[in-house]
Amino acid sequence: MNIYGITKEKLEEYFLSIHEKKFKAIQVFEWLYQKRMNEIDGWSNIKKEIQEKIRNDFSFIMPKIIKREIDELTEKYLIELEDNEHIEAVLMHHDYGNSICVSSQVGCNMGCAFCESGRLKKVRNLETHEMVCQILLIEEITKERISSVVVMGIGEPFDNYEHVMDFIKIINDAKGIAIGARHITISTSGLVPKIKEFMNFPLQINLAISLHASNNELRNQLMNVNKAYNLDELLDTIRAYILKTNRRVTIEYVMLNNVNDREENALELAKILKGMNVYVNLIPYNETNHLEFKKSTKNQILKFYDILKKNKINVTIRKEFGSKISAACGQLRSKEVER
Ligand code: SAH
Ligand code: SF4
Repeated sequence: MNIYGITKEKLEEYFLSIHEKKFKAIQVFEWLYQKRMNEIDGWSNIKKEIQEKIRNDFSFIMPKIIKREIDELTEKYLIELEDNEHIEAVLMHHDYGNSICVSSQVGCNMGCAFCESGRLKKVRNLETHEMVCQILLIEEITKERISSVVVMGIGEPFDNYEHVMDFIKIINDAKGIAIGARHITISTSGLVPKIKEFMNFPLQINLAISLHASNNELRNQLMNVNKAYNLDELLDTIRAYILKTNRRVTIEYVMLNNVNDREENALELAKILKGMNVYVNLIPYNETNHLEFKKSTKNQILKFYDILKKNKINVTIRKEFGSKISAACGQLRSKEVER
């Protein structure tokens, strides 16, 4: 097991299993995440023989950053994993701090028609440490602190549920990277059984749903997942989630020119979301070389926004980040794969 992939609770169990005090787990977390010291020899409050044991029982190998593209407010990283697969992470500078978009899988099997990650299919799930290290590596190279995390990079996080939840626990842990639960968001394409399971997850993290369509016919064309869990089922599950957790849900809606951006779509969307504690985030589409979809015009996005507003739906337009540096989900990896 990799040392960056174990939660504090599991590390406590480990120490108990080798007849050591469980507070050693806190000390290890402090070395890894607060002092950022992975030279185990330097762990001065841990005895040499236990250091040796930890060295034998855990791997300390981290993925590597192999490419960094910098735009004004965005930095995009291509990261190489131990088995030479590639993933991406994107750092965004906001006036309120830095946020990072992390990947959860190598590729994605959900096959959304407009998405570059889906085009390349899933190779494998990411291990927990491969997600944690996206944050550690970028904080190290930038010497800056990351204050919020969105799981919106390559992959469907709810198709890698256990590892993603352990990742959340580690980054949220006060002795870990200590990112507040309210500053963590998971985005899913709508895997209904996992949304139900997630209702019982103990941390107050945010949920975003990639809806992208206002009716089943359209959603079936754009997202295969809708054939397994359709809009009605998905909306019912979101309502149940809101009731159970009392938290507002984000609805993502990517604006595709002449596909889902017409006025009738806005009206239909307002109708199906009426009365729900949600806010809609309209996402300007990032065009890719391989897919025929085009981005909606600014005018069309504003019109769509106005219709939702008039119908009393909370709505924002996502700021465009890094379209110059292929910031759309999966574009950098896809270039690398092609090479
Ligand atoms: N698989 C999850 C999370 C990763 S995708 C999901 O689908 O929710 C994160 C978001 O980026 C999703 O809303 C997805 O639909 C959107 N997206 C994918 N390709 C995009 C592109 N080229 N431009 C803009 N948004 C895109
Ligand atoms: Fe996968 Fe999300 Fe892309 Fe769909 S949009 S293919 S779920 S990464």
